[in-house]
Amino acid sequence: MAKLPGSNPCKGCPALCCKFVAVELDEPDCETDWDEIKWMLCHENITVYKDNEKDWLVEFATRCKMLDEKNHCKIYDKRPQLCKDHDSESCVKYGEGDVYIILFEKPEDVDEYRELLKKGPVEKFPVPKKE
Ligand code: SF4
Ligand code: SF4
Repeated sequence: MAKLPGSNPCKGCPALCCKFVAVELDEPDCETDWDEIKWMLCHENITVYKDNEKDWLVEFATRCKMLDEKNHCKIYDKRPQLCKDHDSESCVKYGEGDVYIILFEKPEDVDEYRELLKKGPVEKFPVPKKE
């Protein structure tokens, strides 16, 4: 588990965890699923990824309306349970390594990934560049 430093680990962080919405998807396993992912990726501020726990998610980069101009939560005492349950393991600032193993940012990424899959398992996408 990632360890957050100090007594107030969020001090100075621009509330990165309050600036997106991620929703779980079924694992794509047919042409319709892949087509739907490509359609999602045609939109602004959308990424689709498979995370370290092998879950597929669509992420919308969008700032929570409850953040004030200093990136503090305006409804902290009444914030949703989902926010209260947020822990260091899923902290995007202090989490360990990439949260994704497969990441699509545009529709063409899906085609490229599927072409690679025809040759064998793909551990990571985009494929890391060799040094
Ligand atoms: S991303 Fe991590 S450090 Fe930043 S506000 Fe969220 S929990 Fe705190
Ligand atoms: S409600 Fe508050 S804690 Fe939850 S995402 Fe919005 S700003 Fe962050």
